[in-house]
Amino acid sequence: MPKAATRPVVLTGDRTTGSLHLGHYVGSLKSRLVLQEDHRQFLLLADAQALTDNGDDPARIRRNVIEVALDYLAVGIDPEKSVICVQSCLPALAELTMLYMNFVTVSRLERNPTVKQEIVQRGFQRDIPAGFLCYPVSQAADITAFKAGLVPVGEDQLPMIEQSNEIARRINRHVGRELLPEAGALVSCVGRLPGIDGRSKMSKSAGNAIPLSATPAEISAAVQAMFTDPGHLRVSDPGRVEGNVVFTYLDAFDGSPDLADLKAHYRRGGLGDTVLKKRLDACLQALLAPIRERRAAFAKQPDFVMDVVRAGTARAAVLTQQTLDEVRAALGLFSFGGG
Ligand code: ATP
Ligand code: MG
Repeated sequence: MPKAATRPVVLTGDRTTGSLHLGHYVGSLKSRLVLQEDHRQFLLLADAQALTDNGDDPARIRRNVIEVALDYLAVGIDPEKSVICVQSCLPALAELTMLYMNFVTVSRLERNPTVKQEIVQRGFQRDIPAGFLCYPVSQAADITAFKAGLVPVGEDQLPMIEQSNEIARRINRHVGRELLPEAGALVSCVGRLPGIDGRSKMSKSAGNAIPLSATPAEISAAVQAMFTDPGHLRVSDPGRVEGNVVFTYLDAFDGSPDLADLKAHYRRGGLGDTVLKKRLDACLQALLAPIRERRAAFAKQPDFVMDVVRAGTARAAVLTQQTLDEVRAALGLFSFGGG
């Protein structure tokens, strides 16, 4: 493996609003498992960002810092290869956010399509927390503080990366050199897994998720509750594959060559939803059983998990402070430091 300093930097993160789910697995975690082999990878437990729409329940956000860390370890994130760190314990990120606020307009933030959608989903009107409207700026701080070149994300995050690159370009233009690299998004082949309701993106906040820690009974109940084709009333009826959540999940998680035959059979008629759901249930049970077991094993070692997160945060603190110092110097801000 190339030396750490020459390996390209990857930054991703997850809001600590709840345990990670299947959408995270296909949208981002699978890529992270590959990337940790030959990249310098940083995983941010985004508790400060999670507070932007959960100011009334900070205890939940704190609790989920460890839950998400457990999910990382359970899927195979290796703390020897990836750095796991806590966003709110990195003051340089908060300071960069504050500085970057001056390089973005309110109207630009209001035009962000993901934020717009999330505002509707959360029912915010004039009561929207200022932090929530500005969270893309804090994501720009996260990405640039690590000088990340690559960000493996779900589709919903593309506007954030665009926003981050815009801010980086503005600052670079201002200081006359490429101080902050622009980041590329890495979207997996399933960039947006729908929730079990089939309507919107699977998300922790929408109550439509299958968590990676789900019990066998919870997995089966979620599969049973999934929408198929409302027009497929009798087994003999021809069924629709497009927009059928069970097929969307089979495409994402099963991927066997005979799926094409299964789809053709369903379209023709004569294939019942029960058979389909049984197959999906078996596939998800097989995927999640080892993750659940590893998670339970790590949960019995709270000191180890805490040490991983503490050590990762200490490493991230050095790097992010360096970037903050560079940005402050480039902007010509006053400093009493040794420099
Ligand atoms: P919240 O509802 O609190 O926003 P979330 O479920 O949307 O939580 P995030 O922590 O916001 O999860 O997202 C972390 C990462 O996982 C992002 O890169 C995001 O794009 C990706 N991701 C989240 N949900 C999905 C999904 N359903 N399909 C694909 N990728 C997803
Ligand atoms: Mg989200």
